[in-house]
Amino acid sequence: MDVKKILICGGAGYIGSHMAQWLAAHGHVVTVLDNLSTGHQDAVRWGELIQADLLDPASLERAFLQQRFDAVMHFCARSLVGESITKPYRYYAANVTGTLNLLEAMRRHRVQRLVFSSTAAVFGNPIREVIDEEHPTFPINPYGASKLMAERVFADAAHAYGLRSVALRYFNAAGALPEHGIGEAHACETHLIPNVLRAALTDGPALKIFGDDYATHDGTCIRDYVHVQDLAQAHALALDFMDKHEGAHAFNLGNGQGFSVREVISAAASVVGKAIPYEIAPRRAGDPPSLVASSQKARELLGWQPQWTELAPIIESAWRWHRAPPSWFPTQQ
Ligand code: UDP
Repeated sequence: MDVKKILICGGAGYIGSHMAQWLAAHGHVVTVLDNLSTGHQDAVRWGELIQADLLDPASLERAFLQQRFDAVMHFCARSLVGESITKPYRYYAANVTGTLNLLEAMRRHRVQRLVFSSTAAVFGNPIREVIDEEHPTFPINPYGASKLMAERVFADAAHAYGLRSVALRYFNAAGALPEHGIGEAHACETHLIPNVLRAALTDGPALKIFGDDYATHDGTCIRDYVHVQDLAQAHALALDFMDKHEGAHAFNLGNGQGFSVREVISAAASVVGKAIPYEIAPRRAGDPPSLVASSQKARELLGWQPQWTELAPIIESAWRWHRAPPSWFPTQQ
């Protein structure tokens, strides 16, 4: 096998830590770069941790001087839609300037391959039921806009410097690998599945459904949930893809099936074996009514084959994680 040395930026975070597990399990050499602002030192279980910040080019330079990487996987980002609307500068700084600094370090050190964590938020409000890569990109929040700007830079970098890149636009990342000691662990949790499971576990405030007056079959928003391990698989396949393909490429990653917020709550109730209390709250700014992926292109060109195609096992893996979290799991704010 062709062993690769991979730098995982943001490897102490949710998706990045699952990426490290996948690469190490497949014989690659992992180095994690993270500023630990939202990531966890204890989630860095595979490979060395370099504490550095993409907004501090000197710390990046030191990381790239340590060894020669074959490729970079870039998961560092601010990723909360609501916060991006109230604090847009933070989002453009972290997601655009931070990415530019990383690209510049890669250029100087002649690292020519990048896999980028992008998002369905680049599409904005969908004009078709199922979103493929040809769907127009009109982000409706600064988070999506910042990721799209980064994608645009990769296209320019391909022309100017020969950078090879793959942007993977995840729909809704979910699930965990509790058997490997990793899962979603945000101090300020905004995502639906962890919030549903927390409502099942605690007697705290009930889960809020953000809007039940959308033009969907039950009035709540529809999303396409994809297991974080399947996302990791796609990133690894993207590395192989770049061996054969120049230029900047983008792929959508989802299971191709949408579930409403109410359907997620009811699937979670079956997994945990009890009803989950909820209340209806106003819509959350920046939420499109429905986001469902076509991942045909990833299946055909990357050879991606998601293993977690049903919602219940995805939720069940998250449940095993949340019901018995590690000691370093953050207390919720
Ligand atoms: N959502 C909700 N209550 C919550 C968290 C999320 O109703 O406590 C809704 C949210 O409005 C969206 C869907 O669940 O329609 C998925 O939100 P999430 O934050 O998990 O992911 P996003 O689609 O924003 O990336």
